[in-house]
Amino acid sequence: MDLKLHELNTTSYPVPADLQNTVAITSLAKLYNWGRRNSLWPMLFGLACCAIEMIATASSRFDMSRFGMEVMRATPRQADLMIVSGTVTKKMIVPIVRLYNQMPEPKYVMAMGACASGGGPFKEGYNVVSGIDKYLPVDVYVPGCPPTPQALLFGLISIQRKMDGQSLTDHDALPWYGVGPSDPTPVPILGPDIIDPRQMDMIRRKAEATAKKANATSLEASRELPVWRSAALAAAAGTGAGAAAGGAVDAGGLTRIPGGKAPWEEPEEIRHQRQQNALKRKAIRAAQRAQ
Ligand code: SF4
Repeated sequence: MDLKLHELNTTSYPVPADLQNTVAITSLAKLYNWGRRNSLWPMLFGLACCAIEMIATASSRFDMSRFGMEVMRATPRQADLMIVSGTVTKKMIVPIVRLYNQMPEPKYVMAMGACASGGGPFKEGYNVVSGIDKYLPVDVYVPGCPPTPQALLFGLISIQRKMDGQSLTDHDALPWYGVGPSDPTPVPILGPDIIDPRQMDMIRRKAEATAKKANATSLEASRELPVWRSAALAAAAGTGAGAAAGGAVDAGGLTRIPGGKAPWEEPEEIRHQRQQNALKRKAIRAAQRAQ
């Protein structure tokens, strides 16, 4: 990339016209950004069909070398641009975030295509993340399914424009120019579903509330446990609990005793009756199997 001095000049210190191709007065940020924007090294990885278009972009017909971006690196430690090209599954988001954390700062992320931007045709699928921006800070979105190489090139130029506007002194917008590295992005956990560790507090609160509700419901249900009796067994026993309670007999020949209590609240007589009935049911089932 040729160095065009007149592009580096700032307007606040005008250089005489006859010196403009010899002398440039510029800011450190502008010089620094000029170097970075023309040597972006994308990470070499692809996820789905969009990756084919990314590969085509690197071919001679489209020629990413014009932008100094042809050096695709097969290691995150030498890359400063992550092009997320394709469908992001819940299984893949874990290594993607890990790779992002391994990239040195300053680093940029591009969501290429409908899938990476928002789930695309697979949005809300059981195995698909609805956009890489749920986990990583995306700098540029490239629409399309898939985007053409021209669209990807326009996305790369947009990242260059974004870099041009970045300042070495704005530590709030660009933490990597501040003191020390920024915090790594928490790596999601793949369980029965994907879990974002940043939402762990909310997940724990909801799980506790659900468990509490389930406990209350089961305690309530145990207090209202229906005590079913076989009418035949009760009749055979003569003094069955069903008969004692005067419960109704249903079509299946079973009697429900209204106001049944939890097992530990039942009187000894009822418990004994329950055991007897269990033995008799067992005998009836054995007889049915033998038929
Ligand atoms: S956006 Fe379209 S082309 Fe790109 S990965 Fe998704 S389905 Fe494939």
